[in-house]
Amino acid sequence: MEIKFVEAKTLKAKPDVSKIGFGTHFTDYMFVMDYDAAQGWHDARIVPHEKISIDPANATLHYGQAIFDGLKAYRNNGKAVVFRATDHLKRINVSAQILDIPEVPFDVMHAGLMKLIDVEKDWIPADKGQSLYIRPFIFATDEVLGVSVSKKYKFMIILSPVAAYYAHGFSPVKILVEDKYVRAVRGGLGAAKTPANYAASLHAGLVAHEIGFDQVLWLDGVERKYIEEVGSMNILFKINGEIVSPSPKIQTSILDGITRRTVNQVAKAWGMPVAERRISIDEVIAAHEDGRLEEVFGSGTAAVISPVGVLRYKGKDYVIGDGKTGAFAQKMYDYIEGLHIGEVEDTFGFVEVAGKY
Ligand SMILES: *Cc1c(COP(=O)(O)O)cnc(C)c1O
Repeated sequence: MEIKFVEAKTLKAKPDVSKIGFGTHFTDYMFVMDYDAAQGWHDARIVPHEKISIDPANATLHYGQAIFDGLKAYRNNGKAVVFRATDHLKRINVSAQILDIPEVPFDVMHAGLMKLIDVEKDWIPADKGQSLYIRPFIFATDEVLGVSVSKKYKFMIILSPVAAYYAHGFSPVKILVEDKYVRAVRGGLGAAKTPANYAASLHAGLVAHEIGFDQVLWLDGVERKYIEEVGSMNILFKINGEIVSPSPKIQTSILDGITRRTVNQVAKAWGMPVAERRISIDEVIAAHEDGRLEEVFGSGTAAVISPVGVLRYKGKDYVIGDGKTGAFAQKMYDYIEGLHIGEVEDTFGFVEVAGKY
C-alpha cells in the first residue's frame, strides 16, 4: 500500500523537553488510515497533526470500541530507532481481536510507523532518558446509536516528545494492594490495551492517591488472591535470587507487557533463574516475613522499571529493601536504557532502525 504524504504549511517550534513531562506536546505529523467493509484498511497517509472532526453519534464515544499501544523511539548512534516496534505492532492485532476490530496488515503498520519516525526524527530528544513516545490507536467511527460492532474505523499514530521519567533518579513508589476494586477479570478485556481497562482503573488509583499511595496492586478479580499487575504496569518480584512474575499466558486478564518480556529475556541472558507463574499476595507477604523478598518492581514502556518501596495490604505496611531501589532493578534499568540508545550492544534484535541522521 502506498503511503501518501501531505506537507505541513508551517512547522512547530520544538519545546524544551526537560520541562514538558509526559504526553503534553505533539509533533508536526501523524499517520492515518481508514477502514470500511468495502475497502478494508485503505488510504494510508502521513498528514499534519491536526484536530479531527467526529459526529456526536461516534460509536467510540458511546460504546468504547477502541484500542491503543505505546512504544518509544530513541537516538541511537546516529540512527533513529524504535524499540521492539514489531512486538508492539503485533500486540495491536492481539488487542484488535479481543475488541472485534479488523486486524491491520502488519506490513502497512510497520511501514507507516517507520516512515513517520523518519519524517519526524528531529523530534526525538537528544538527552539521556528522554524519548519520542509513539501512540498508535484504533477507534470505531460508525455513526449510529444501535449497539453493535462498528463497520468503520480509524487507525492513527501520533508522536509526543517526553521528558526523562527519572530526571531526579529513582524513587521507589508506595503501593496499595487493592482488595476492593478490580481492573479486569478472566473472560473480560484485561489482555487488550483498551481504554475500558483504564477507565476501570482510574477510581481505585484516585482513592489510593488520596491516602498517600502512588498506585494500586491489582489482585485477580475472582479469588482476590493472585497478583496481576501494578497500576498500568506489569509486576515482577525478586525472591531468593529468582525473578518471578505473573504470566499473561496463565492469567488471561493480564496485559502481555513487552517490557516484562525484555526484563525476563535479559535476566535469562545474565544467567538468572526466571519463573512465570501464579503468585499469591500471601506468598509475597510470607517471603517478606522470612526475608526472601529481595525486590519488587513494575515494568512498562513509560517508566521502563518502577521500583516498589512499600506495599500496604490489609492495613499493614511491608517495606521492601529498606524502601530503596534494589540492585537488580537498577542494573536492569541501566541495561535497557543502554539498549535504547546503543550504549549496550543489542544482541536481542530489539532495536529497529527507522532512519539515519
Ligand atoms: C501497557 C501496559 C503494560 C505495560 O506494557 P509494555 O508493553 O511493557 O509497555 C502493563 N499493563 C497494562 C495494563 C498496560 O496497559
